[in-house]
Amino acid sequence: MKKMGVKLSFALMQDKVVHIEDKVDRSKLYLCPFCKEEVRARKGQVNAPHFSHSPESTCSISYETLLHFNAKHYLLNEDDIEINFPIKFLIGLKDILSSLELSNLPIKLNKILKYYHLAKGNGKVEKGIGNYVADVLFECDQIPFVCEILVTHAMEDEKRNYFKNEKIPYIEIKPFPTLENKFSFSVTDYYLPGFMEKFEQEILHKNLENTYNSYHQKFIEDAKKELVTYDQTQMAKDVSLNQLLEVVDKLNFRDYITTELYKRMISIPVSPKGMGDRLEEIRYIERQYKHTRINGKYYVNNETDILRQMLFHFREQGIRIEAIIGKDDIKGKEKVIGYNFLLPSRDVTGEQMRNILKSIVNKLLQEIHTPF
Ligand SMILES: [Zn+2]
Repeated sequence: MKKMGVKLSFALMQDKVVHIEDKVDRSKLYLCPFCKEEVRARKGQVNAPHFSHSPESTCSISYETLLHFNAKHYLLNEDDIEINFPIKFLIGLKDILSSLELSNLPIKLNKILKYYHLAKGNGKVEKGIGNYVADVLFECDQIPFVCEILVTHAMEDEKRNYFKNEKIPYIEIKPFPTLENKFSFSVTDYYLPGFMEKFEQEILHKNLENTYNSYHQKFIEDAKKELVTYDQTQMAKDVSLNQLLEVVDKLNFRDYITTELYKRMISIPVSPKGMGDRLEEIRYIERQYKHTRINGKYYVNNETDILRQMLFHFREQGIRIEAIIGKDDIKGKEKVIGYNFLLPSRDVTGEQMRNILKSIVNKLLQEIHTPF
């Protein structure tokens, strides 16, 4: 609180609020709007122009009251006022504003007024609306518009709700004194039905238009480059897969399937007594009265067991077995007289592997030619 020398931006002249930047008539009496003492216009070189009280003044107007008073009169007095909207209030423009590293966007008060078919001349300070008093009220014949100045207290919820229920647009703004008796304003709350949506759309549209105009040639070139890259990748894949297909086609798998490999591919050991000590290739099979003799040296034990095990084990391994059906020697009844094992042959295996590989490569070729 300043006791002496309160500097005013506004003074009363015959009940009219006059700004220090307005034309001051030295023959007229100017009064402090608060203590009603006489004040004089000072337009020196050192200090910003102001109305000053006399040295004996007892005016005890607080800084906050003065700020509130100055801000609302400045709002009406200035022609070209911009209100800063923090980015959090401009959800639709968040990306654009962030990319420009802007934390808020100024919107002209006149633009808002115009949207609601109002003008600066329609404004009044401390004007009643419903059961409330608006800091600045703009009204004409259509919807009114309210500006609330936030210095120490934000609007009560009741007042906010009243405006919203009555569809009365408002902005609540915080004033920041700048040099030379000016103010900047920052929005703390608003209700601007219709306006904000339209405003954001306008900005987005303009932004799109500007971006298009500045960059459309570059966009076209980038798109072309992407297409060329895409085509080249496509072609490279095509060529290499076709080469692969040729190689596969010429492959003779028999050259690659050695006896040893082939043996491993088609070996299925069958023994009810484990793997034994070693394997010996059969060169002679002799059939004797009760036994089978192998290589003139070994007797086969449990032939029936081995055969049964073979049948089950082969089927488990997916090998098809056909039963050879014949007639009983004595009674002429049908019975199984043998088995046909459907085992892969070396030639057929190689051929099949080639066909499998070819169909894989062909499928890959098809895939790269299928449009997205
Ligand atoms: Zn005073």
